[in-house]
Amino acid sequence: MIALIAIATVVFMVLAVTGGIGVWEAIASAAAIAALGFIYYLLVTAPVNREPPAIIAPAARPAENPLQLADTIVARLPTPVLVIGPGGRIEQANPAARDFLGLGAEGAQLSAVLRQPKVLESISGALRGENQKPVEYSTFAPMESHIRAHVIPLKTGQEGPFPWRALLVMADETSIKRADRMRADFLANASHELRTPLASLAGFIETLRGHAREDIGARDRFLSIMHDQTERMRRLIDDLLSLSRVEMDEHLPPNDEVDIAAIARDTIDVLGPIAREKGVLIEADADEATLVVGQRDQLIEVAQNLVENAIKYSASGSRVVIEVRGGLTRDQAEHSSHALGNQAARVAIALPGGPISGQAKRRFAVMRVRDAGVGIERRHLPRLSERFYRVDGQKSGPKEGTGLGLAIVKHIISRHRGGFIVESAQGEGSVFSVFMPMPAAKAAIQDAASTE
Ligand code: ADP
Repeated sequence: MIALIAIATVVFMVLAVTGGIGVWEAIASAAAIAALGFIYYLLVTAPVNREPPAIIAPAARPAENPLQLADTIVARLPTPVLVIGPGGRIEQANPAARDFLGLGAEGAQLSAVLRQPKVLESISGALRGENQKPVEYSTFAPMESHIRAHVIPLKTGQEGPFPWRALLVMADETSIKRADRMRADFLANASHELRTPLASLAGFIETLRGHAREDIGARDRFLSIMHDQTERMRRLIDDLLSLSRVEMDEHLPPNDEVDIAAIARDTIDVLGPIAREKGVLIEADADEATLVVGQRDQLIEVAQNLVENAIKYSASGSRVVIEVRGGLTRDQAEHSSHALGNQAARVAIALPGGPISGQAKRRFAVMRVRDAGVGIERRHLPRLSERFYRVDGQKSGPKEGTGLGLAIVKHIISRHRGGFIVESAQGEGSVFSVFMPMPAAKAAIQDAASTE
């Protein structure tokens, strides 16, 4: 076994050092090969357990008997591992596999819980004793996931016409695939968006070296423009990095408890000076403490992006309100704002996945940012959260935005399994609402209090 791990590690490390593959891919591949070899050793080379097949349950503590130890190890592996018998019946499944496929206590046919024809074909081949190549497949609902299924034929040594079993190990490669795509997107976006400010900087440098060399007035003006351009490049890179980070773990929901009423008040403290500078009044209308299941830093980013926009697209003398309400049903959270009247256009940019019936008991908290600014024409609303989308001809003041803020908000809210609604009426203003699930117990208490 140790020799196997050593060989796999050496082979992949040599590939990594010679540049064939990356270091993390090398470590992951060596670990996967070692784990597969280990499971193969336990199930085939080790003495065969002739007891009737069973679902492998996690043991309280490691057993001393080698067979029990094998079960314990397989049970504790975070990777789904199954043994498939004749006719495609699931004979054994570790807890990770049961979670992944949603298996109940009773036995099941693999084809009933995994609708992937290529994997099922590969299993049929393995049950005839044929070696199989790994099968890759992707699913995009309810969440994106990319799986590499390893199918290995196992000879049980049992008498009878069906001596073969198929070992199915399902490696989740979603993070690796996402990281690859994010890297490619980041490079493409960064190089495209930085080209314009860079070209402008190069132009000004040429001018300063040429005819503007002795003109002090022109030099100061150009330097100030160059400063703005470098600031814009910094904002672009910050926003692109932030978007990449958010997209990277969008498939992993957060699980802290965060008070969004406190976030609303903090946002007003942080952005107060910018609002005052522009002559915009900002105020909070928030319940005492309103908890949601979330990640604090990301929800601060959501609040700051929405309030910054509200200030940016408002005229001097107008008012921005950040409202927080908890204990709402899914329907109330989605439909409760009509602050702009019936003429306003309204678009849901993101909504919680899954059947609405499953969310009947769930309570949500909403954070709503309302401004009396320029408003947005109806036709633009569905596209606002696309990266780099900006409404033509709209003035946001001297500090132009990057067109990435609402894309970041959308991805954070999707990660939180929440909703993001935009309402706007041109010339009247806009309301940007986000809502997220509240922690189960707190939602029930708040709900009971609100019905008293
Ligand atoms: P930006 O950095 O350009 O503000 P965002 O992604 O935050 O990028 O917003 C995208 C576009 O949506 C903005 O360029 C602007 O045209 C429009 N927008 C966003 N918020 C508001 C608002 N409160 N009022 C009017 N228009 C807005």
